[in-house]
Amino acid sequence: MSPAADRAPGATLDVRSITKRYGDVPAVDAVSLDIEAGEFVTLLGASGSGKTTLLRIIAGFADADEGSLLVDGQELRSVPVHRRDIGMVFQNYALFPHLNVEQNVGYPLRMRKVSASERRRRVAEALEAVRLPSFAKRRITELSGGQQQRVALARAIVSRPRLLLMDEPLGALDRNLRDALQLEISRLSRELGLTVVNVTHDQEEALTMSDRIALLDKGRLVQFDSPDDLYHRPVDDTAASFVGESNIFRGAVRGDGSLDVADGVVYSPPSLVDGSAVGSGAVAVMVRPSLVEITLPGRAPEAHSRVDGRVSGIVYAGDSRKIIVETAGGAELIARENAARPLDVGVGQPVTLHWDPRSSIVTRLADETATTAASAPTRKSVSA
Ligand code: ADP
Ligand code: MG
Repeated sequence: MSPAADRAPGATLDVRSITKRYGDVPAVDAVSLDIEAGEFVTLLGASGSGKTTLLRIIAGFADADEGSLLVDGQELRSVPVHRRDIGMVFQNYALFPHLNVEQNVGYPLRMRKVSASERRRRVAEALEAVRLPSFAKRRITELSGGQQQRVALARAIVSRPRLLLMDEPLGALDRNLRDALQLEISRLSRELGLTVVNVTHDQEEALTMSDRIALLDKGRLVQFDSPDDLYHRPVDDTAASFVGESNIFRGAVRGDGSLDVADGVVYSPPSLVDGSAVGSGAVAVMVRPSLVEITLPGRAPEAHSRVDGRVSGIVYAGDSRKIIVETAGGAELIARENAARPLDVGVGQPVTLHWDPRSSIVTRLADETATTAASAPTRKSVSA
């Protein structure tokens, strides 16, 4: 049989209203995810948002208090860990240091009493897949971090699991290795048709690797969408501030379509001014820093949203540079421009940031109670 023919295809995973409490506080709060066969899904969220807890529940290392987990339509919660048919990769590799590469990768097959010859064949196949074909006899201690993680990945896929779970698999690696392995894991999981649930707190990693991202905040699912939708259509200010850089203004939309903002005028997008999407409640207006322009005070076009401030920092990052502007009210805003452009502002200089209202997105406020009078942009929206 060809490797393709005897491979089990990825399973569907239906996470239904899973809740897990430690004490009174839910670490995972009624999370539902309908994951398709062969889909690469990333659980994204800040530290403590419940990612590992949810992954451990899927793996079987912890049980939920409520909810159900259906794999290919069958309840998983009553199935013991070793019978769940799941591959796992952890941040710290978790390899056996006294075994060589081949023995590590073959370990799950040994546990299943697969014959030695079949084991050799499948270990060789798995090492081929992670591009370490000549490493079978190497000791684990002779491998770099990146190579160890490839071995861990080979061990996770060698028994052809229906689901592959990964908890911050690239967290211990340096930037370049991380980028390379990101691409490789995506390639491999797609080649093998694996259904993957990956965990990270790194939004770039999530945006690069995933078919869909489940954004978690304090145990709750904020949004479950494609990277593109999450970036361009965040459901609320939490999603907007977590994914991509953003400037966020909070307030109620007035009759003329503007928000009440201390250091300037912020218009909501014309299409939403009298739309029911806004209503009369408090909203967030969000604009991405790459869509913000910078000019001298008084020079912004009349129809543009504009906020006055003073340049407080200029930071270069690869092809772009970030101009940080602090308003009189103490809020920090960001404009991001192409680094090839001549720099025409300096630190300390008074400036106006402005943008076409059509560049803005209006979203819900995750926590409306805390924002009745708030009109300044949120500080946490400003990320490096
Ligand atoms: P993440 O992986 O997103 O960083 P975790 O799932 O590890 O988050 O944790 C979510 C919340 O649950 C945190 O507040 C954490 O302190 C709590 N928590 C996780 N595991 C336990 C445990 N075994 N006992 C008590 N609290 C826990
Ligand atoms: Mg974690």
